[in-house]
Amino acid sequence: DDSSSPSIDAAARKQRNIAVMTSGGDAPGMNANVRAIVRSAINKNCRVFAVHEGYSGLVNGGPEYIREMKWVDVRGWLNMGGTNIGTARCKEFRERWGRLKACKNMIEAGIDALIVCGGDGSLTGADLFRAEWPDLIKELLDKKDITEETYHTYKHLNICGTVGSIDNDMSGTDATIGAFSSLDRICHAIDYIDATANSHQRAFVIEVMGRHCGWLALMAAIATSADYVFIPEKPTSVDEWSDHMCEAVSQHRARGKRKTIVVVAEGAISSNLTPITCEDVKKVLVDRLGLDTRVTTLGHVQRGGPAVAFDRFLATLQGVAAVDAVLEGTPETPSPMIGIAENKIVRRTLVDAVKLTKSVAKAIEDKDFEKAISLRDSEFHEHLKYLIAMNIADFREPSLPVEKRKNFAIINVGAPAGGMNSATYAFANYCMSRGHVPYAIYNGFSGLARHESIRTIDWLNIENWNSLGGSEIGTNRTTPEEADLGLVAYYFEKYQLDGLVVVGGFEALESVSQLEASRESYPSLRIPIVLIPATISNNVPGTEYSLGSDTCLNKLVEYCDIIGQSASATRNRCFVVECQGGNCGYMATMAQLCAGAECSYVPEEGISLEQLETDIQTLKAGYASDKGRNHTGRILIKSEKASKALSTEVIGQMISLESEGRFDSRTAIPGHVQQGGIPSPIDRTRATRFAIKAVEFMEEKWSVVHNAEDEIGEFEDSDEVSATAAVLGIERSHVKFRSVKTIWNNETSHGTRMRREIFWEDIRDIADMLVGRVKI
Ligand code: ATP
Repeated sequence: DDSSSPSIDAAARKQRNIAVMTSGGDAPGMNANVRAIVRSAINKNCRVFAVHEGYSGLVNGGPEYIREMKWVDVRGWLNMGGTNIGTARCKEFRERWGRLKACKNMIEAGIDALIVCGGDGSLTGADLFRAEWPDLIKELLDKKDITEETYHTYKHLNICGTVGSIDNDMSGTDATIGAFSSLDRICHAIDYIDATANSHQRAFVIEVMGRHCGWLALMAAIATSADYVFIPEKPTSVDEWSDHMCEAVSQHRARGKRKTIVVVAEGAISSNLTPITCEDVKKVLVDRLGLDTRVTTLGHVQRGGPAVAFDRFLATLQGVAAVDAVLEGTPETPSPMIGIAENKIVRRTLVDAVKLTKSVAKAIEDKDFEKAISLRDSEFHEHLKYLIAMNIADFREPSLPVEKRKNFAIINVGAPAGGMNSATYAFANYCMSRGHVPYAIYNGFSGLARHESIRTIDWLNIENWNSLGGSEIGTNRTTPEEADLGLVAYYFEKYQLDGLVVVGGFEALESVSQLEASRESYPSLRIPIVLIPATISNNVPGTEYSLGSDTCLNKLVEYCDIIGQSASATRNRCFVVECQGGNCGYMATMAQLCAGAECSYVPEEGISLEQLETDIQTLKAGYASDKGRNHTGRILIKSEKASKALSTEVIGQMISLESEGRFDSRTAIPGHVQQGGIPSPIDRTRATRFAIKAVEFMEEKWSVVHNAEDEIGEFEDSDEVSATAAVLGIERSHVKFRSVKTIWNNETSHGTRMRREIFWEDIRDIADMLVGRVKI
């Protein structure tokens, strides 16, 4: 983090005064959001003010509450939990007189745009404030509290919302800032509780936050393979839920599971809207099943601690987008809210998002639960559907008729990546719920060809796989051609496989491409094949997200936080951190953004001596301006393949030499730590969603590829048929199945073994801008 702001081209734009505020419950990532807003606003030649203590700060006003922020004021904020500018629940702002005071205070401070980071309540307040603004300011004029000139200057309030809330309860965005950090804390806690529950064969009823929204509970239940979940959007009658829960739990126990986990959202209700408490649930488990049952309320632990990488990314990109939005806003444009759809930052209309959010609450109040669910985002919807499908699988007849049941297999290819085991778990469970037979191919294609290592999956064996890193079924880089394509096809024939899910990175893509191209020669390969990308490098063509990349990024960012602390404590040290990622600079770029590193060097750009020289000069200037205060560790990130000539070690030595004794530099190489250990909740839940989508795809496409034979039995390839070998990826705001053939032929750089198009260029610019390396 540089301590000086980038030079300001003062004449370039009309200077605006932007205020930023955090409101409602604190959420990890709020500080990252404020940091991005402050620096992005300064980068765009604006002055920026922090309103302290949420709406109370606006209502109270004055320099105590509304303070200008400078570039250095937000140094080191990226990884801090909570919100450094304070937040509050403010009754006065709910009253018109409170908002009138807020209006006057804002004008007195010279503020002409306001960015509010908060949950649905805070953004409802912001929307109301915007709608009332013309009236409020007119009243101030009529009362002669402001002059005519001031009235005209501030006639239009420019407002923008960034959604910060651990509940993820706002419509119009897939994720709110803080929600995934909170989910991370919950999953860790449940993983810990699992161990003790298993030891004593106990049941645990775990209460998680979510007064009106069951997102945290639902996602935690999926990520930890809980036995049952209670959320406000899906209530049932008391008799019904007791029966369902007991049936599910006793089925799991009958299959040999030693523990029981039930997750209860704070706002869980039964269909007559009476709350379901943990004690209610415990009583049923004790009375009806005789289980030794404990209740754990996770409470405020869920709000605490540093933001996970995704929240830093989300908060940072939203902050930058919010500043752009207020600068582009005109009196005619409706106030925006910044959200995210899959992998793309989106601008929504605040009033619509608020309206939609309210309609969920209204639907619950009206007991129209179907509607409440349908109004939630599609991801929520899908997860709930899948969880129900997988839970009932154990005690009801599978959902498909016998003639539609198939043999589906899963295989891991390439290096291990977080989420591989979750994919196997969800694949097998969902297959069982449908009546398919799930097979696992162990130790990749070479395992199959050499040792016939293929077996059906047993439910009890995989029961705890969601929280395991690595690949339990084993993985390696061997492709079918290297292993022996003929033998691979022979075993597909022998086991009568009707579909294959391949989970892995670039070698996995290559494998699927080989299988697809061999369909003409080997009839047993004429089955749907789905690639679920999984690699920490996130370099697979056809997707912007691979399983494991989130787990890896979290490990890297955590590592940089620790290294940064050491650098900061020793006052005059910087670190060059080397990160993995093959020929792809995605991971280095994201680590720079999420750890606030000074720069990142990536293979796509290489390292020029000129750039290195500039970066070292910037470091020198930074250390010189510290003058014994404001120490933050300075970190440079380098992809291992960024340069053939300049190794991490050499760069470290050059920095030390050039520093002329003012500071030193050390290198740090996290190496295989980046594979991550326990997978992150994002990787676990996405793996679940993708694995189930893959099974649905195979069910749907089986007949397409199976019927691709003409009258004399020859294989007829067509676009429709070749599209049955597909990559399941995320491109911008969509989850898509796309033909492997198209991707392999048109979008793959075979020499560097990665996708051709770089989708993270904008992120590099933002990461550089936020440390003052460039102006955008
Ligand atoms: P969280 O999701 O963490 O609960 P939130 O933003 O929903 O965050 P709330 O307590 O609902 O939290 O709202 C925060 C503040 O926003 C309130 O204390 C109040 O000052 C303001 N606010 C909320 N709703 C309104 C409203 N309808 N009108 C005016 N102001 C409101």
